Amino acid sequence: MITMKRNARITLLLLLIAGLWLALKPTLGNRRFTFLPFRLSEYIDFMDFWLNLGSFALLGLTVWLAFGALEKAFSRMWMMTGFITLLNITLELVQSSIPGREMDFADVWAGLLGCVLGIFGGIVLQLLSIRKKTGRTSPQVLFLDQTGRLGGAELMLLDIAAARAADSEALLFQDGEFRTALENIGVKTTVLALGEDASTVDKQAGLKRVLRSIPGILQLMLQVVQAARSFDVVYANTAKALIIGGPAARLAGRPLIFHLHDIIADGHFSMLNQQALILCANHCAQSVIANSEATKDAFIACGGRAELCVVVPNGFRIPTERSSTEETKSLRTSLGIPSAAWTVLMAGRLAHWKGQHVLLEALKAVPNAHAVLLGDALFTDEDRKYAQQLHTQAEELSGRVHFAGFQSKTMPYFDMADVVVHASVYPEPFGRVIVEGMLACKPVIASRAGGAAEIISHEQTGLLVNPGRPTELADALLRLQHDSEFASIIAHQALQTARATYALSAVQEKIEAVIHQIASPQEPEVLSSIIPPKKSPPCAA
Ligand code: UDP
Repeated sequence: MITMKRNARITLLLLLIAGLWLALKPTLGNRRFTFLPFRLSEYIDFMDFWLNLGSFALLGLTVWLAFGALEKAFSRMWMMTGFITLLNITLELVQSSIPGREMDFADVWAGLLGCVLGIFGGIVLQLLSIRKKTGRTSPQVLFLDQTGRLGGAELMLLDIAAARAADSEALLFQDGEFRTALENIGVKTTVLALGEDASTVDKQAGLKRVLRSIPGILQLMLQVVQAARSFDVVYANTAKALIIGGPAARLAGRPLIFHLHDIIADGHFSMLNQQALILCANHCAQSVIANSEATKDAFIACGGRAELCVVVPNGFRIPTERSSTEETKSLRTSLGIPSAAWTVLMAGRLAHWKGQHVLLEALKAVPNAHAVLLGDALFTDEDRKYAQQLHTQAEELSGRVHFAGFQSKTMPYFDMADVVVHASVYPEPFGRVIVEGMLACKPVIASRAGGAAEIISHEQTGLLVNPGRPTELADALLRLQHDSEFASIIAHQALQTARATYALSAVQEKIEAVIHQIASPQEPEVLSSIIPPKKSPPCAA
């Protein structure tokens, strides 16, 4: 905030100097004046000079003071222009009364027009901003997200936006089913597509690709600045949304919340992207909502400001009804799974770091078990290539692997399964599928890293295995397959924990508290009363 003001003031100072030179040039060039005028005409010329000087200084000062809220600056500038022109006309009239001087009518008419337009324009702008403000009860939030697909971050945003649909709008950088989902819950959504070069920059992009993407990013940034001015808070939900929305929010003079759904570390992001993210978050965000302690720790370890962070996990609607036996039976049949087969579900997009290949490898050691891979390659060409490799790998398992593709209704898949597996090879930022498995009262096996290790307590609410170790995963699967009583006990304990910890309403309240805090920073106690400064994870391993 301080840096912003300093930069704004330096810019204004330069503008002021340039403007002064323009304003004073004709006066200095055409008129003679002394600092101690004796004759009235000289005195009037002298006043004209100082009026130009003073009015420009006033104009600059007004913008200076109002900087940060451009709407305010514009309306004040309009008003000021009007009053200055009025003074200029008066002076012109006084000057023309001096013997030998003639009235410059063109000057007077131009002045009059400027005066009327200035004063009326200023009043209209003021009234408009007052009307907009008085009609609002809750901060107006502009959500930004880079994708049109439905990943975990987007599903979380859907739940947040659903709770404040009347006071929010969304801006996506790509069209897709996410836009439809947002519109279905009543959130006005606009798609501002990124150019080809910018949209292909992924989390691992190097310098060359990043440089090529700059023109597209700048263009989009300006559009976001324009949009952001009508809102109280900008809410960046993804990395690219932060890179574009962070500077845009600053230019628009609006506070920014960054919802961090990623672990900023090697494996997830290139070094360049890590630095860009931290720079943007540290300088543009007023709050960073991390979805787990692991996400927060990685952010801080990478140089992120700890005081910006608050940890809010994902929230889930607790279903009152589960799928019927008929439903799960017919789903099994449609997938080609024998009715009595012991079935492992792995839900989530197909991507190498999600570790579907680890499960397929482990399955070789678990005879008769079938696996359902629910999800699709959502984001990159690499993911699509990986999906093809999985199909090849599955051929070795003679019909025991079933690809279900992306489904928007996932509950029947969880209900149909005997066990839910999470096998990410890099630390998972949160791991929604783990909680969804717990809420379905299924035993869950997850990778011992990141957010997953915060959600599951080993041998209490699930089993944790080391990431990328198919033999360990196979052992855990065999344990659950052979000890159904143990499987049932941990599943029931997990259900209780998930219900108590991840209820959506509580999470929505916490997010809302952050939004209110950021929108009106004079009430710091609101946030700390709802979100204690440091909270240990409820079921850390
Ligand atoms: N999911 C879905 N349909 C699918 C596969 C997955 O809706 O076909 C959902 C899944 O239920 C979960 C989310 O996608 O809510 C994935 O979130 P997670 O945190 O596990 O992974 P992310 O995509 O955020 O990396």
